[in-house]
Amino acid sequence: MSHILVTGGSRGIGRAICETFADNGYDVSYFYVNRPSLEGEHIYPVRCDVSDHDAVAESVDSVISRFGDIDVLVSNSGISISGLATDYSPRDYRRVMDVNFGGLFNVTNRVIPGMVHRKHGVIIAISSMWGQTGASYESLYAASKGAVDAYVRSLAKELAPSGIRVNAVSPGCIDTDMMADYSDEDRSELIDETPLARLGTPQDVADAVYYLASDRASFITGQIIGVNGGFLI
Ligand code: NDP
Repeated sequence: MSHILVTGGSRGIGRAICETFADNGYDVSYFYVNRPSLEGEHIYPVRCDVSDHDAVAESVDSVISRFGDIDVLVSNSGISISGLATDYSPRDYRRVMDVNFGGLFNVTNRVIPGMVHRKHGVIIAISSMWGQTGASYESLYAASKGAVDAYVRSLAKELAPSGIRVNAVSPGCIDTDMMADYSDEDRSELIDETPLARLGTPQDVADAVYYLASDRASFITGQIIGVNGGFLI
């Protein structure tokens, strides 16, 4: 049985990814910080803050003990703090970078050696279109996702000789808790700006992740795949 580890699998996009792979016969491990959601014989939730390097190392070892080597890693956990660039504190800066980019660094840092040893593995980061376009009031978030994209491209070059593919899925506006603070007016404006005229669903993103993890994507690496309804073309 194949094993996928998803960071931030308790809600939103990460949860849809966990459900999709579980439905397709994977053993699924996931990290969360507040409350686990999915549980079962083939689903293993582990409380782990991805910004904590030592905790990530311990938690990766724990999921390997439970389900064996990791075939697919999805670095999905992310946070957003809105504000003017001049209003952010150094603490805001550290938190957003430590979770959104540091989480990717910490988890790949622990998972890659096993994949290299086996010359097998797929790594997918969930980025954001704002990392490509920049975003007013979300400058830290956009910068952290720009770092994710650059890291994904670099890892893809470094790891291709070891048979490991690395890609990012870059969502547009997806209807999850991350959009909970948006007013109806904000949501309508975003829908108006989206050529396919709707918000995305977590499943839209999970389907792209499932494809990228499959052998059907065996010639795809180093790409930032947009799932944004045409918002960014
Ligand atoms: P949600 O807020 O719905 O879920 C976030 C998930 O990340 C939760 O499972 C949460 O765990 C987990 N998480 C948060 N911080 C940490 C941490 N420090 N360590 C471990 N897990 C953590 O977000 P979405 O599903 O919307 O977002 C998922 C990803 O998609 C993020 O990287 C986000 O940036 C990206 N994205 C989302 C978009 C959107 O419009 N929704 C657009 C573009 C990108 P817990 O439940 O325990 O709090």
